[in-house]
Amino acid sequence: MQFDAPITIALSKGRIYKQALPLLAAAGIVPREDPETSRKLILDTTQPTVRLVVIRASDVPTYVQWGAADVGVAGKDVLMEHGGEGLYEPLDLEIGRCRMMVAGPRDAAVGERRPRVATKYVASTRRHFAAQGRQVDIIKLYGSMELAPLVGLADLIVDLVESGNTLKANGLVTLEHIADVSSRLVVNKASWKMKHGTVTALIETLRQAVAAARQGTE
Ligand code: ATP
Ligand code: MG
Repeated sequence: MQFDAPITIALSKGRIYKQALPLLAAAGIVPREDPETSRKLILDTTQPTVRLVVIRASDVPTYVQWGAADVGVAGKDVLMEHGGEGLYEPLDLEIGRCRMMVAGPRDAAVGERRPRVATKYVASTRRHFAAQGRQVDIIKLYGSMELAPLVGLADLIVDLVESGNTLKANGLVTLEHIADVSSRLVVNKASWKMKHGTVTALIETLRQAVAAARQGTE
């Protein structure tokens, strides 16, 4: 495909990067270096007008919102926390699939005091419990949420669950479903207008690649 306007794509390392690569390749975009081994944060691609910036997953919406990247790939979990301001979310890439769940010990006690919920997903957690009129105290963590109930830091956690093996290994079970998560293509609102041809061509090519991948797994 042809890219008339130069575009910058924001991506995070790890699982999203690995799963996004084949989709980008379908659009003729292949990075010239591997971010897992290179220390470079800006990667050139086989498309002279397309570059990738490799950043923390939770920073992707921020880069795109401010136009530092024209488009990005971000998990729905990250977008729910960010709020999606300044972004369009035109395409579900159907990668990075998991669920945001409330989890805890099987016998999670319904005690006297307010339950404490440990999570990285403070906004989503607040919304979930508020929608049910349940009062909870939320404790912000940056990782290893499963540890919190084991050491008495919290009664419950809100985390992403794929197979449930990590929960199981720590004696925890899923209790409530909050959201289905997958990675989304997000687009800066100004880029959407100013680089409309290039952005929509990219979206349509990716849409076809997603459909082809879906056919392959069905
Ligand atoms: P960082 O450590 O850089 O702050 P992170 O730990 O959230 O970010 P990853 O664990 O690579 O980074 O997760 C990145 C994204 O991958 C998440 O935002 C989510 O959308 C998706 N993801 C995370 N965990 C899972 C999982 N268990 N299964 C599928 N997708 C997941
Ligand atoms: Mg991580």
